[in-house]
Amino acid sequence: MPGCIFCKIAQGEVQSDIIREDDQAMAFRDVNSQAPTHILIIPKKHIPTLAEASEQEGGLLGHLLLMARQVAEDQNLTDGYRVVLNNGVAAGQTVFHIHLHLMGGRTFDWPPG
Ligand code: 5GP
Ligand code: ZN
Repeated sequence: MPGCIFCKIAQGEVQSDIIREDDQAMAFRDVNSQAPTHILIIPKKHIPTLAEASEQEGGLLGHLLLMARQVAEDQNLTDGYRVVLNNGVAAGQTVFHIHLHLMGGRTFDWPPG
């Protein structure tokens, strides 16, 4: 999608600190880290929001979760970690290319702000 920063990262047009990558997805460090470990997991395909994902994309969405789990293992987040998906402006979504936040290395409050 032209103008989408995460599509540009997925295509290598914009530099990022890549942690893991396969044919469907990519994990890279968040540029504005909110935890000692803060990694974003994105599909290479442009899907703007969870609300707009189709049934056919269910496998891809599951793949993102499994990549988050693998990265958490690789990063030794043995004390626990949080996976967040912001859907829509009111939830705090600012980049409209679906992504999981994987955060760890500290404790987290519940409920989140
Ligand atoms: P959202 O608020 O949409 O759930 O999360 C977007 C996240 O993307 C934010 O945490 C923000 O710091 C991160 N982000 C925005 N632009 C860039 C970028 O160009 N590179 C990287 N690595 N992260 C970005
Ligand atoms: Zn995109």
